Amino acid sequence: MGDDPASRIYVNNKKKACEYCGIESFEYAMPAETTHEELMALIEKLNNDDRVDGILCQLPIPKHLDEKAVINAIRPDKDVDAFHPANVGKIMIGDYDFLPCTPAGVMELIKESGIDISGKECVVIGRSNIVGKPMAMLLLHAHGTVTICHSRTKDLAETVRRADVVVAAVGVPELIKGDMIKEGAVVIDVGMNRLADKKLVGDVEFESAAKKASAITPVPGGVGPMTIAMLMKNTVKAALVHSENK
Ligand code: NAD
Repeated sequence: MGDDPASRIYVNNKKKACEYCGIESFEYAMPAETTHEELMALIEKLNNDDRVDGILCQLPIPKHLDEKAVINAIRPDKDVDAFHPANVGKIMIGDYDFLPCTPAGVMELIKESGIDISGKECVVIGRSNIVGKPMAMLLLHAHGTVTICHSRTKDLAETVRRADVVVAAVGVPELIKGDMIKEGAVVIDVGMNRLADKKLVGDVEFESAAKKASAITPVPGGVGPMTIAMLMKNTVKAALVHSENK
């Protein structure tokens, strides 16, 4: 929707990933002045299109449109972003079809690195519906002891210092410094912040944090590609479910 430059990059990367995986993708680049009715009509069309197993509306959308209505309109079994309340509810009870892509990517990184979350102090910084909250839930399902920090947390540094596992999803460049990281902690940086000089940095100050961490993800090249990989996984899963039901 519209011409957000970051969205353009994300959509292009997702299209490339689809091509790489052998998934056919259809792009509907809608102008910023698209009406609510037009957008709803498109979603309805895709909901009923048997060639389509997954639907993704790249957020943010222009201010005059209702993001919540868009998320609610996507058929839950085609909601490969896992933003629909039905899918969010399933994540809460640990009985899910789709996992939200970014938190799922973080869990995959942790698993593939041989890190066991069970019993660990996990601190998630950020409480958004798309990253922070589901991230905390997945860490909890993996038996972590989870704390969620946010903009009103009183002593962020002290809370982060307790953590065996830190997941930063804030959107503030290099907010988390090395002196806030416990020796040997695992540090996952979800943040993607574009500085004035166009440089892309995370929410963690990589150099200082890397000196303390036992494992740390870089930005770019850490969580970002995992998010797209998990989107592909969800789409394949949706296709399998749909083909079983045909
Ligand atoms: P958001 O703006 O919706 O949420 C940010 C959260 O951070 C809020 O809950 C807020 O309470 C908290 N916060 C803000 N300032 C804080 C502070 N000073 N101390 C502690 N907490 C603070 O953002 P989001 O959509 O969750 O995204 C967070 C970051 O992750 C952004 O940089 C975004 O670009 C990035 N992101 C990356 C991916 C990926 O694939 N790598 C996917 C989604 C988001």
